[in-house]
Amino acid sequence: MSRAYLDYAATAPVHDEVIEAMAAALRDVGNPSSVHGPGRRARARLEAARRALAAALDASPDSLVFTSGGTEANQLALAQARGGPVLVSAIEHPSLLDAAPEALRAPVTADGVLDLEAFERLLAQHRPALVSVMLANNETGVLQPVREAAGLARRHGALVHCDAVQALGKMPVSLAGLDADLLSVSAHKIGGPAGVGALVLRDGLEIAARQRGGGQERKRRAGTENLAGIVGFGRAAELLGRQDWQRVRRLRDRLEGGVLGHCPEIRIHGAAAPRLASTSCLATPGLAADTQLMALDLAGVAVSAGSACSSGRIGPSPVLLAMGVEAALAACSIRVSLGWGNGEEDVDRFLGAWLALWRRKGGRDPAARPGPLSKPAPMAS
Ligand code: PLP
Repeated sequence: MSRAYLDYAATAPVHDEVIEAMAAALRDVGNPSSVHGPGRRARARLEAARRALAAALDASPDSLVFTSGGTEANQLALAQARGGPVLVSAIEHPSLLDAAPEALRAPVTADGVLDLEAFERLLAQHRPALVSVMLANNETGVLQPVREAAGLARRHGALVHCDAVQALGKMPVSLAGLDADLLSVSAHKIGGPAGVGALVLRDGLEIAARQRGGGQERKRRAGTENLAGIVGFGRAAELLGRQDWQRVRRLRDRLEGGVLGHCPEIRIHGAAAPRLASTSCLATPGLAADTQLMALDLAGVAVSAGSACSSGRIGPSPVLLAMGVEAALAACSIRVSLGWGNGEEDVDRFLGAWLALWRRKGGRDPAARPGPLSKPAPMAS
């Protein structure tokens, strides 16, 4: 059965060019720390990948520390508070929130945007050592005012970290442009492999390592490098410019228009705020997220309920609760996230399967407008 993969925010398909580059790196023996020929070849591959990623981020190659993913990059950033108070937005990824349970949480508006006034009050009251504000939320796609938050944080003497894992590739991302000190990125959201990420440091910033025992990454992250993963990350970074996000936005709008045209009571979380072109977080009152996920999966359509990173967990999303969404509605919310491999047929497959479920559950179509849904695709048995 063909599938419509609409879960790019969980992980994106790996580009063929990335697989080829990784295979070449895997076939070649060599530890980048070894001084012999194979070691020097491995080092050359590593540094080429570093330059490619640095170019995509408008950063200097020396400012990159490769990690095992966005999670580790976020936690390496958190460690730079060196025990001091930390202030984060209430909608950060669990790799930050769960790693800093004692952190102060700045509220967000009903649209899912950081409340800058509350953020500033918390800065003044608690004088945190480090603040962390993500660039694009993983569940709603809503963009955050990172530059403004960074300006405020700087006035109060805090280091500024930004989790740009979801944003990279879908919008310009640069540490300098955001006025941040630390920035997290991850390969598997941009067509690279899972298990590799990077923390980007402001030039000249000295960080405290969390992993010690080797001189790798200029003593900022010990451990033999995941060379094939890093090579794949570098290749994926080189391919970023070729993606057409306006096309993806049109697909996303077609999908949202399709559900709203038939079911006006659907709520699209964060729709009034600037959002990534790729992501839609849809709440259908009375239709539980797990029911939707299972029916869509049977029809060959892959989407998520909230963040897929906490696999299998289906419950009201803390992000939506922080936006003031009632728990019952949050539990009826699914995330659809599109990318470069999707076409109209994927959107129509989603719409057909979703509408069939909605009608089976008693949903009535007030408008009954003709459109992409006029002939819903049959559900797979
Ligand atoms: N930050 C955000 C916003 C994410 O969406 C994710 C993963 O989905 C992460 C961090 C964690 O990245 P990784 O899966 O590379 O550990």
